[in-house]
This record gives sequence, C-alpha cells and structure tokens, in this order.
Amino acid sequence: MSRGASRELDALRSLHQVFTAIHSGQDLAEVLQRAAQGVVDALGFQVAVIDFVDPYGYVEALAVAGDEDACRALKGRRVSLDELQDEFAVAEDWGLLKFVPHDRLPEGAEYSWAPDYEPLEDPEAWHPLDALIALLQGPTGEMLGMLSVDLPVDGRRPNHLTRQVLEMFAVQAGLAIYHAQERERLQERVRLAAATRRIVETASQELDLDRVLEACFEPLVDGFHADRVVIRVFDVDVEGPHGERLATEGATYPPGILGHLPALLAGERGETSRARGARMLDLGERVAWACWPARRSVVVGELGDTTSGLLDEAERGAVLEMVHGLGASSMLLVPLGAGPEVLGTVALFRADASSGWSEAENEAALEVGRELGRVVHRTRLYQRERQLVTELQELDHYKVEMIGTITHELKNPLTSISGHVELLEDEGVAPTSVGAIGRNVRRLQRLVGDLLLLNSVQDPQRPFAPSPLDLGALVEEVGDLLAIQASRRQVTLDTSGVGQAIRILGERDDVLRLLTNVIGNGIKYTPQGGVVRVAARAVDGRAEFTCQDTGIGIAEHDLSTLFDEFDRGSNPAAHAQPGTGLGLAIVRRIVERHGGTVEVESSLGSGSTFRVTLPMPDGQEAAAPDVTQGHSFRIG
Ligand code: ADP
Repeated sequence: MSRGASRELDALRSLHQVFTAIHSGQDLAEVLQRAAQGVVDALGFQVAVIDFVDPYGYVEALAVAGDEDACRALKGRRVSLDELQDEFAVAEDWGLLKFVPHDRLPEGAEYSWAPDYEPLEDPEAWHPLDALIALLQGPTGEMLGMLSVDLPVDGRRPNHLTRQVLEMFAVQAGLAIYHAQERERLQERVRLAAATRRIVETASQELDLDRVLEACFEPLVDGFHADRVVIRVFDVDVEGPHGERLATEGATYPPGILGHLPALLAGERGETSRARGARMLDLGERVAWACWPARRSVVVGELGDTTSGLLDEAERGAVLEMVHGLGASSMLLVPLGAGPEVLGTVALFRADASSGWSEAENEAALEVGRELGRVVHRTRLYQRERQLVTELQELDHYKVEMIGTITHELKNPLTSISGHVELLEDEGVAPTSVGAIGRNVRRLQRLVGDLLLLNSVQDPQRPFAPSPLDLGALVEEVGDLLAIQASRRQVTLDTSGVGQAIRILGERDDVLRLLTNVIGNGIKYTPQGGVVRVAARAVDGRAEFTCQDTGIGIAEHDLSTLFDEFDRGSNPAAHAQPGTGLGLAIVRRIVERHGGTVEVESSLGSGSTFRVTLPMPDGQEAAAPDVTQGHSFRIG
C-alpha cells in the first residue's frame, strides 16, 4: 500500500472512531479531543483545535491536539465571535472550510496562532500566518463551534482529499456538540420541571406561607443550581422592610434570617450599608413591578445581563456590587405576583462566573414566581377571612356580654320594685317602700336613657352631620344646667376659663351630652367644698375643653378600662354615688365619631382632669397635648 493510501486509511479509521465515540454518548470534551487528535494523526497537521461557541457569543478552545507549544498557547483560549467574523469575511470559501491566507488577515487579528518557521518557496506553500477553519454546525446550520488546523507536515496547503476528510471530521464534531447540548438541555428541562413540580405540590398542600417558602429552598437550590436563594414577600399592611417576610438560604446565612435582609444585602457593614441594603430592596421592588406585566425576568451579572432599560449604569453597578458582596457572580430575579399585583421577588444567586442563566431557567423561575404569587395571594385571602371571622366572633361575644349585663342591671331594680310593690299590696302605703320604688325607678330611667344614648351614638347607620358650633356657648349652657346640682352638693363650678368664640365642627346634641357627662362626673365625684374648673380654648388649630376637679381621683389600674361600658372602677367612694358606668362609654363614642381625642390624667385622692379635643371648622390636626402630672389614659 502506498504511503498516501495508508494515511487515508488512518484518516478513515480515526473518523470511524470519532463516529463511534459520538454515538456511544461519551463525554463531549473527550469526543472532541479524539476528533482533534484524529485530525493531527490522520490528516498530517501538527495542530488541531476545536472551539465551542457559548450562548454569550464567545468561542472557547475545548480540545487542542498536536504541537505542545500550540497546545499550551491555545487550550482554554476565549475569543469573541465578532472578532472572528472579521477573519471569516476575508476568507476563501472552501465549502464548510474557511481559508484565510496570511496576506488577507485583518490587522490586529488575535485568533491565529503563529508558529515561527520559514515557508517553502512554492505558490501552494503554507504560510505561518495562514488559517484554515472548519465551521461546526448543528442540523439547521447554526454555528456551534469550529475546528482549526495549522502547520501541515508537508508545508503545503491541503489538497482536495484532505479538505474533504477534514470536512467530515467537522461534520462529526458539529454533531457531537449538538447532541451533547441537546442532552444537556434535556437534562436541564427535567431538572427544572422536577424542581417546579416539587414547589407546586408543596404550594397546593400547605396553607402556611412560611412553610411553603421554606420548602422552596431545596428545589430552587438543586433545580436551578443556585448557591443562594432569597425570597421576599412584600407586606401590604406594614410599611418598610421590617414588616416583610424575608427568607434566604445560602452558604453563610441559614434560613430563619427573617427581617435582616437590608443588612444581608449590604454585606453587614454598618449603618450606611444598611441604608444601601434598603435601597437595594427598593430597586428590587421597582424592577419587579416593571417585569411583572411583561412576565419577564432580569439577570444581573457579567454574562447575559438583561438590566438594560430597567436599571441605569449606576444602579446596575450598585446591584452588581451587592451580588458580588454575597459571594455570587450573577443574580436572576423574577417577580412574585398574582393578577395585576406584584407581591414579592425571588432572587437566585450563582457563584460560577462562567455559567449564565439559560432561557429554560429564566422561564422556570418565572413559573415559580407565578406559583408563589398564587400562594401569597391565597394565604392573604385566607388570613383576611380568618380575621373577619375573629372580628365577627368578638362582636358576637360582645353582644352576648352586653345583653347579659343589661339584663342584670335591669333585674336588680325590678326585683327591688316588685318586692316593695308586694309590700304595698300587703300592708298598705309604707313611706320607705315608696322611697325605694322611686330610687329604683330613677335608676332604671337613667339606665334606659344611657342605653338608648349609647345605642344611638354607636349606630353605624346614623349619618354624621356636623355643623360649626360655639364651644364656649355650649359649655356655658351645660354649666347653667348643672349649677343647681353643684350648689346642692356644695361644689364650686368655675367656668371662668371658657374662652370666647371657639368654634368646633360637631353635632350639637352629641357635644352637649359629652360636656354634660364629663362636667357632671366632676361634680358627682367631688366631695363637698371641692371645685370643678372648666376651660375651653383653641390650641394648634383644634378646640380643647378641660374639666379639672379636686375630687376623689382615679386609681392608675382603673384608667385603661374607664371608657368601657358598665365600668365603674374599683373605688368604693365612686360606687357610693349613683351611676350606670355608661357615661364615659358614651363620651368615647361621641369623641370617636367627631374625630377628636379624650384623655384623662388622675391620681387617686387628688382629683382628675379630663381633656377633650375636637376639630375646628377649618382647623388642622394638632399634636397631642402633653400630659404632665399623675397617670393618664388617652383615646383617639
Ligand atoms: P358612672 O359615673 O355612671 O359610674 P361613667 O362612665 O361616667 O359612669 O364613669 C365611669 C367611672 O369612672 C365612674 O364610676 C367613676 O369610678 C370614674 N370617674 C368618672 N369620672 C370621674 C371623676 N371626675 N373623678 C373620679 N372618678 C371618675
């Protein structure tokens, strides 16, 4: 057999081996290495390189065979595809092969490796700067890689036969890359589908949001090959990051770091970094709202960055710094939403700088965001429903208690009245019984009157129709009415502190009732010889009315329930006076209805001060008045 024929046989054998390797599904790098070696061994080139085109437009040398220097120089080399396009543009087209003669090489071309030797004196001689590249393509012609050869052993440009065999190697190497990528894509799809399914399954079985979030970490870390996962759920009811439910899983921060995300995002470097962390959260929220309507994700990183149009350069730089601070090289962020609403974000971080986020990963992450959005929406509805049920139950409980107390309050005087009536029937008219009947009837009248009033002031159906009123005049009116009661009890009622022309916005009957109850209590709970001082003035755009007495005072522990229905406190001196325990409950409802405030400041044995503020017709909100003495309690 001639030398040429044996070389061709070697080439065919080597080609056959490459075929076999491809179809037996061996490791891609190994298959390509074999192909490169085959080219060197069988086709008489001293250097063969197989490059692979990555999704980000770079070619990287995966397999290098032949000359040791060349192997060292070329292995792992990464060049942008754009640069190569310049070389292809000037190449001679040899079918799948591109031949770039040294004299056409674009200026500054970096790609070719230039061995140091003198070319032959021959028009067909191979020049050290010549380049011969075979494109590796997929079934539909997409460029997957390239096979380049250099340094033909005979020092000449390859003949027709060598080119044809080289093309065959290229076709096989192209198929090998294509199949390997397909295999990888398939594995990735299976992996992502499994992760998404696990999340959907947990989400459909679990009602507790925290438990759903916790169960997401493992599938997200495994399925998406993420090194850290941060799930953030915005809380619509609470402002600021502290009200949010945050969960993260990663190498440094275990789950359970809830509420510390600003510090985490800032890399925990003090107060200013915290502010930066909070800024990151704001940015994340803004980006999520921008992404949600388009159902898109965003990648921040050196590879495959998609922030353009969403973040400006400075913002992108800051986010990237945060990503690096977390020990990652890139972040994939998807909105977590339901309907038109964005409810949070899912951020996946990856440390490996050479692997970006694939389209399949982007889509699967979006699906996870939608699924978690549904869960958050559902748990919110569930929580709202439960809250409503609790409120209704409380209301029910209140009604039952109220009816119980009212019945009790009505029963005592009625029992007493009926007892005395029986006595009257048996023994004729007895003055003590008449007195008791009269007392109890008055008590019943007071009680029924107060109940009716309470019912009316807390009736949500009753429209609120305020009008401008003169507070000073109303206080004077009530003062006149209560003057007899005060003088009977030998208590001085001093209204000299009532200013002129203090306008309020309110309902006349309600305000009169409020003033009567507060001033009336002052007189009732002040022993003989005491003073009740009433004042009214305008403070910071609001009308303020105060009633200060020198009476029995109120114990600190009674203050917080003072405005509850039927509460009469614990002081026996107060119980000695007639009362229903409804007067201040009525005051409280009236104040609430008017958008005012009421506060009491008192200490046992040394008198009390009640201070009520009400809105003025064009008044502004005023700061709450300062409480300076004794103990106090405030409503509104
Ligand atoms: P009532 O006066 O009918 O008992 P209120 O609701 O008006 O009911 O008042 C509730 C309780 O608050 C009173 O029973 C009393 O113990 C206490 N209280 C109200 N005003 C004063 C006051 N000016 N001084 C001392 N105690 C008071």
